[in-house]
Amino acid sequence: MTPVFDGHNDLLLRLLLDPARRDQIFLTGEGKGHLDLPRMKAAGFAGGFFAIYLPSPPDPDDAAHHKSMETPPYRLPLPEAIPFDQAVPPALAAMGHLMWMERASGGAVKIVRDADALDACLADGTIAAVMHMEGAEAIDESLDALHVFHAAGLRSLGPVWSRPTIFGHGVPFAYPSSPDTGPGLTDAGKRLVRDCNALGVMLDLSHLNEAGFNDVAALSDAPLVATHSNAHAVTPSSRNLTDRQLAMIRETGGMVGLNFSVSFLRPDGQRIAQTGWDVMLRHLDHLIEALGEDHVGLGSDYDGCLTPEILGDVTGLPHLLDALSRHGYDRALIEKLAHRNWQSVLRRTWRG
Ligand code: ZN
Repeated sequence: MTPVFDGHNDLLLRLLLDPARRDQIFLTGEGKGHLDLPRMKAAGFAGGFFAIYLPSPPDPDDAAHHKSMETPPYRLPLPEAIPFDQAVPPALAAMGHLMWMERASGGAVKIVRDADALDACLADGTIAAVMHMEGAEAIDESLDALHVFHAAGLRSLGPVWSRPTIFGHGVPFAYPSSPDTGPGLTDAGKRLVRDCNALGVMLDLSHLNEAGFNDVAALSDAPLVATHSNAHAVTPSSRNLTDRQLAMIRETGGMVGLNFSVSFLRPDGQRIAQTGWDVMLRHLDHLIEALGEDHVGLGSDYDGCLTPEILGDVTGLPHLLDALSRHGYDRALIEKLAHRNWQSVLRRTWRG
């Protein structure tokens, strides 16, 4: 079985929302959601980016917004910014859950902090977890918290989830929409880029708007990476990357992880699970053409999205790889998409 290292999952959010049941949710598994330890092992899931994501307070219109995504066009309003003092406790809790997963899994899961550790996990079958923060609400303008989180193992950071932060602005969930939806990075955001470069923390451009993307591209000395985004030329969602952005990523030797959300895969943008392999293959073909074989991977968004029913949860990964093989991708390319390209870009970003 080809191991799959994946660009994005939201399992930590499930633990954050129901911490008393984390044993059942993760260790024993109960067949809910997309990820748990037994299903990861069964699927050859080699690990990936585990997102520390902070949910906004519930909005009475949440259900209606979700419903509107089933039938584009739609444009969801963005939740308000979460202040630093309200963001730190849940961020610490989510980070704690990841550290608990490492402790409680009896050696099955390891938080990786450098490229050698990641390669060793891929070689020996340990599930490698990259600590990722999706939205920098828990970091203050002084950036001191960034250094604290880095010392605790943070190796990847999205300056924003779609909600605004003191660092920048994300795209609202909208279809059809360009990703050019607002202003770029703030001065604090520009300092954040420089400190992430200095620490070797990967900057994740998924969710950032186009002006912010351009600012990171102008400032950063690391490869440009979008962990879980698709091709705007195939599906014109605000969350997907235009050909111009893909060309900029290619220029830096960067990387894009294919998002499994039907909302960002289906050309018609509809949020319905009755979706085949064909749309995933169209995005992969486009990304490979735009970026080259060495700069595309997977970024499932497991436990954070509605996946095609043909794929389902993590145990669908081997079926996805079979579909790639039937589509004509050879073994070397499938291994690059499944894990080698992530290994390469992280080694270059983390600088060892
Ligand atoms: Zn996301």
